[in-house]
Amino acid sequence: MKYVIKTFGCQMNFSDSERIMTLMKENGFNPLDNSNDSKLKTEEIIKADLIIFNTCGVRASSEHRVFGQINNIIKASESANIPKNKRPKIIVTGCSAHRADFQKTLQDKVDLFTSIKDFPQALRKLNLLQTEEQEYRDYLSIQPQYKYSDTAFVPIMTGCNNFCSYCVVPYARGREWSRPVEDILKEIKNLADKNYKEVTLLGQNVNSYQFTVHGSQPKEITFPMLLDILAKQFPEITFKFLTSHPKDCSMNLIKVIKNNKNIPNELHLPIQAGSDKVLKDMNRPYTQEYYLNLINKIRKEIPKIKITTDVIIGFPTETDEDFQETVKVFRQVKFAEAFLNKYSPRPGTAAYHLGDPVPWSVKKKREKELSQLLQQNNHQSSR
Ligand code: SF4
Repeated sequence: MKYVIKTFGCQMNFSDSERIMTLMKENGFNPLDNSNDSKLKTEEIIKADLIIFNTCGVRASSEHRVFGQINNIIKASESANIPKNKRPKIIVTGCSAHRADFQKTLQDKVDLFTSIKDFPQALRKLNLLQTEEQEYRDYLSIQPQYKYSDTAFVPIMTGCNNFCSYCVVPYARGREWSRPVEDILKEIKNLADKNYKEVTLLGQNVNSYQFTVHGSQPKEITFPMLLDILAKQFPEITFKFLTSHPKDCSMNLIKVIKNNKNIPNELHLPIQAGSDKVLKDMNRPYTQEYYLNLINKIRKEIPKIKITTDVIIGFPTETDEDFQETVKVFRQVKFAEAFLNKYSPRPGTAAYHLGDPVPWSVKKKREKELSQLLQQNNHQSSR
C-alpha cells in the first residue's frame, strides 16, 4: 500500500506530518516519494492508495491550493479511467479539517476529515489501521520520521488559549496542552545520540509551556526552565524555539538565552500591529508601549539580539493612521526580519463578521512600505 502526504502551513504541521509518516509505516504503508510534503505531479500521485492533506487554515490562499489540488486529483483519476472504487482514498487533516464550510466544499471528493489527534481512528474508519489505536492516544508521543538528518523540529506543546480574533488555531487545535518533560527529554536524547546539531522547539505559544513534575515535592516546569534544562543537558545541540506571544515573554527567558551559548541570540516576537486600537480588536492584550518597553528591556540584557516579527496588514479596523503606528514600531525596533501577511477573513473566527473592508491594493501598498523599511534597516545594519 502506497501513500502520499501533502503538507501546508507552519513548522508545526510539518512536524505533525513526520509523526503521521510513522503511523503510516506501522500500518503497512510505504511513502510514494519519502517526503512529508510530496512534490510529485498529479499523474504520479494518483498511483497512491491513500493521499493525506495536512491543511493550514491561517490563510484563505492555502485552502484554495488544497481545493485546486484535490480537484486536479479527481480530474486526473477520471482521465486515467480509474474506476471510482480503485481511486486513491483522500484524508484531510490539520487546521481546516474541522470547519463545516471547508468540509462542505470538498464533501463529495474527500473520504474522511479528521483532526490530527484522531488520525489513527480515521485510519480505522477506512479499515486501514492494523495496530492498536490505544497506542496512539497522545499523538505527540509517536516517534517521528525526521525529514533531515542534522536538524529537527520537536513540539513541546500544542493548542492555544489566546483566541486572537483573526486566528483559527484555538478552534482547530483546541486548548493548550504541554508535553511531559520526560517525553521531550527522551526525544531529544534520541536526537543527540544520532548526532543532531540543531533542534527547534515548537508550540503555538512556547511561553505558555507548563508541566508539573510529580514527586515527593511536585515541581512546576515553565518554558524558561525547560529551555535551560535542555541547553545544559545537551550542550552539543543548538536550541531554537517558535513562537512567543509578547504578553508571555518573560525576562527569565531572556536570561536563559543570555546564559547558554547553545541558544542563539535571536527572538521571534510577533507584534501583528502597532496600533493599540487594532491590537485590542485583534484581542492581543498588550499595547505598543508595552511591546517597545519589552524590546528595550531585552536589548539591555542582550544588545545584539536579532529580533524578528509577524505583522497582519489590513486588519478590518486598520486605518491609514493605525498603519502608521506599525511603521513607527518598525522604525524604532529595526527588526532583522518580518513576516508580512495580508489579512484574509477566516470563517469561524471572531473577526470574520467584520468582513474585509481594506482593499487589496491598500494592503499591497502597506506591505511595500514595510518591506522597504526592512530593507533600509538591513542595509544600514550591514554597513
Ligand atoms: S497566540 Fe493568537 S495567533 Fe498565535 S496561535 Fe494563539 S490565537 Fe493564533
